[in-house]
Amino acid sequence: MLKPRIAKREVTLHVLRAFGLHASKRLGQNFLVDETVVDRIVAAAGVAPGDAVLEIGPGIGTLTQGLLEAGVKVVAVELDRRLVEVLADTLAGYDALRVVHGDILKTDISREMATAPFKVVANLPYYITTPILMGILEQRLPVSVLVTMVQKEVAERMVAAPGGKDYGALSVAVQYYTVPEIAFLVPPQAFIPAPAVESAVIRCAVRSEPPVAVDSEATFFRVVKAAFAQRRKTLANALKAAGLAAEAAAVLAAAGIDGNRRGETLSLAEFAAVANAWEKNKNGRSL
Ligand code: SAM
Repeated sequence: MLKPRIAKREVTLHVLRAFGLHASKRLGQNFLVDETVVDRIVAAAGVAPGDAVLEIGPGIGTLTQGLLEAGVKVVAVELDRRLVEVLADTLAGYDALRVVHGDILKTDISREMATAPFKVVANLPYYITTPILMGILEQRLPVSVLVTMVQKEVAERMVAAPGGKDYGALSVAVQYYTVPEIAFLVPPQAFIPAPAVESAVIRCAVRSEPPVAVDSEATFFRVVKAAFAQRRKTLANALKAAGLAAEAAAVLAAAGIDGNRRGETLSLAEFAAVANAWEKNKNGRSL
């Protein structure tokens, strides 16, 4: 079905006016009004007819329409009740769409997504980008790829390599679960209202296996968190501060890592070596 495209400035303004709506800053509402960007997001997701997609925050249906026109089955979770009413109008007649009214952070996603595996495609509300992405990855949902619009600065942190200022706990976590790449940048003018920051579409291909062998994920992420909690401290001091106390030196020595290094210089493999040595030490095995 070919309906007029919503991804246009005049159409979006018309819809907002017709429903007496103003974009809510609190809910991170910046509506896409550039159809080329919509097409590029759909292309980056590599969707085929019949694919199942979870869309987070469909808004007035701009990106949703692009997905539906590509033959995709969409489950779209939207928090704003007024927008759920708008979607019933703007996307009337698209049978492959199911709109769920709710908060994505409280939604039982595996229950909503009947088809596995599925893809996640979204122009995310920026105020909760990290909890949304980490929640999906940590739950180990059967997701093959996530293609999402995020702040450019967040995208740069997600793909950052060790050593730079952008490298942090988010980089390690995203790279542990996925292979992320920045697909393309998006200027503020592509949205109504224009956000104060530049945006980027990031494509994260979910790994079937983590890239490093980790004995305990909880310990691995505890070490990572501790290392970045006080970036200016040496690794030995950062780990001590996190409760490793006197054993920090022995654990680092067993892992073959110089305790004078800063945490931000460690690769995923080196974090895994520290975490695995920590686990052994905790379990009373000799280092
Ligand atoms: N997809 C639309 C587009 O591209 O024009 C809208 C994107 S807008 C950046 C973010 C959307 O997420 C808004 O529709 C907002 O109401 C919705 N939203 C905000 N917080 C949410 C939450 N916790 N759960 C689900 N949707 C949320």
